Amino acid sequence: MLKTVPVSSNRKTGPIAVTYRSGTHETYGTCPKSCALHPKNETGSAEIDAEYLQALLKAVPRRGKAWTYSHFPAAMLPKAGPGETVINASCDTVDEALAAVSIGRPAVIAVPSDTSDSWPRVVEGTRFYRCPAELSDSFTCKDCGNGSPLCARPDRREVIVFVAHGTGAKKVGTGRGGCYAASGPVALQWHGTRKAGAPNDAQAVEAFAKSLPPGSFLRHHVAGDAGKEAR
Ligand code: SF4
Repeated sequence: MLKTVPVSSNRKTGPIAVTYRSGTHETYGTCPKSCALHPKNETGSAEIDAEYLQALLKAVPRRGKAWTYSHFPAAMLPKAGPGETVINASCDTVDEALAAVSIGRPAVIAVPSDTSDSWPRVVEGTRFYRCPAELSDSFTCKDCGNGSPLCARPDRREVIVFVAHGTGAKKVGTGRGGCYAASGPVALQWHGTRKAGAPNDAQAVEAFAKSLPPGSFLRHHVAGDAGKEAR
């Protein structure tokens, strides 16, 4: 199920286009079982939804940028070709992020809230630095990278760090939950997606990208992933 929002009111993304993706039966149904932040791993997905993935890669606004994040293993994620959606490998450890970079995948990492003073830092030649929208209340994805948001750069070798926040923050880094979309306004939007989103999410995501004004930014899956829901 796919919810599309032409102009988000999310504080961090700023006023750009976004989507939410949920399973039909379970809100977390498109997220991989392997995700360490998943609060109910047994309900997660074991495989990528191939039809949706192909549509996701193509779902880029004309002359615009599109990006997302996935908790599936980095090696399972396609590298974005020219003009395709950039899929960042969402990592849970520094070693995992380094491994993703080593195979040519742009990577991000979610880190515990008490490590905010540890960044930026360079590990084995790779620079890790915090998302700039976490460092200023007035900075959003719309402002990021002077027209080329950092998360939409397919060949980026630096790892972007997201410091945990919200009610689940204490669980990040424990391997037992901590998903930032488990509560608050994001959770409300996401649960609403399961009840009222478009049922054919592959068709819906392509149509949505085509409907956006030229030059738009589109951040796919504020919550959700590219998995195929288990039946
Ligand atoms: S690094 Fe830039 S594009 Fe990525 S989440 Fe932060 S502000 Fe948005």
